[in-house]
Amino acid sequence: MPVARPTHVDIDLAALRHNFRLVRRQAGAGRQVLAVVKADAYGHGAKGVARALESEGADLFGVALLEEARELRAAGIRAPILILGGIYPGQEAGFFEPDLIPCIFDLTTARRLNAAAKSAGRILGCHIKIDTGMGRVGFFNGELQDMLPELNKLANLRIDGVMSHLAVADEPRHPFTAEQVERFRRALARVREASHRPRFLHIDNSAALFAHDIPECNLVRPGIVLYGALPSGHFAGRLDLRPVMHWRTSIALLKTLPTGSGVSYGHRFIATRPTLVATLPVGYADGYNRRLTNCGEVLVRGRRVPVAGTVCMDWTMIDVTDVPGVQVGDEVTLLGQADGQWIRAEDWAEKIGTIPYEVFCQVSKRVPRIFK
Ligand code: PLP
Repeated sequence: MPVARPTHVDIDLAALRHNFRLVRRQAGAGRQVLAVVKADAYGHGAKGVARALESEGADLFGVALLEEARELRAAGIRAPILILGGIYPGQEAGFFEPDLIPCIFDLTTARRLNAAAKSAGRILGCHIKIDTGMGRVGFFNGELQDMLPELNKLANLRIDGVMSHLAVADEPRHPFTAEQVERFRRALARVREASHRPRFLHIDNSAALFAHDIPECNLVRPGIVLYGALPSGHFAGRLDLRPVMHWRTSIALLKTLPTGSGVSYGHRFIATRPTLVATLPVGYADGYNRRLTNCGEVLVRGRRVPVAGTVCMDWTMIDVTDVPGVQVGDEVTLLGQADGQWIRAEDWAEKIGTIPYEVFCQVSKRVPRIFK
């Protein structure tokens, strides 16, 4: 194998397991845990993450796409997988694999899936999604009265689960979560009146799991906390999470620029003193966001060091003038922990006006994930 560019992500499986145990404890004995590993486990690498979580006792997995479910199966994951995204025309037979569970959120799709199941002589267990106020996908409470008799006619579908998704659970004091939970209860009552006996009832994402007690649910669907990040700043200091992703590179080149020199496209950084600039082999094509231009920070030799100038597609420059002994080849941490210091996804996200979810998902495929 040729030697690769020294830019990679370390995935700390011990931290992942720790976070999972925290979730398990919070969920309590009566609830199963569905680990959300969609979008390549929020950029952490779904195969490695799911293998670790399965061995730690995750009961189910949640993905967005049928393709993602297939990838997990190919990696040897045996637990049931709930496919949270859509079922697109032509994909129906893909859902006939053992323990792949479709989510149904509209009647047209339900009919299409039922017809495919009927021709294959199958009864397909599925979860139905209720739109209790997310305004995204799901049956509205108001339409359930008309929809349930129609769903009842679909003899090749069996409703094994009823679920919904919360819009503002990351703001624990927001009153709308209680309203959504109430709508969910009403929807459950209707489903039961229509003689369905769903085994799984679920609405909790990470934020809801840690901020609300919703006793009727027997399954929780955490994502972000498994990866060691907070659903929002409201949870700061409240959860003993360990970040899982540590993004590292090393210094490719060092040069001293005289006062007045510009760095990178647009000369957005001008040296105000003789400046030692280190060039890193990582850029926005790797997911090192271009908005970190002149505001990102990285760790070098135990110090926080600023990004100098515009982040390029494949290169990023940092100002290492104040780092004694700095050398070509020194390890640089872009995200995560080094020498007892942290660059947290939350801090990075705040700087560029996004959320940790997007920070993780943006780390591109060309950055290898190394499971440790
Ligand atoms: N359930 C559904 C339907 C989702 O779309 C997501 C994430 O987007 C989750 C659960 C997990 O949410 P979180 O990562 O906030 O725990």
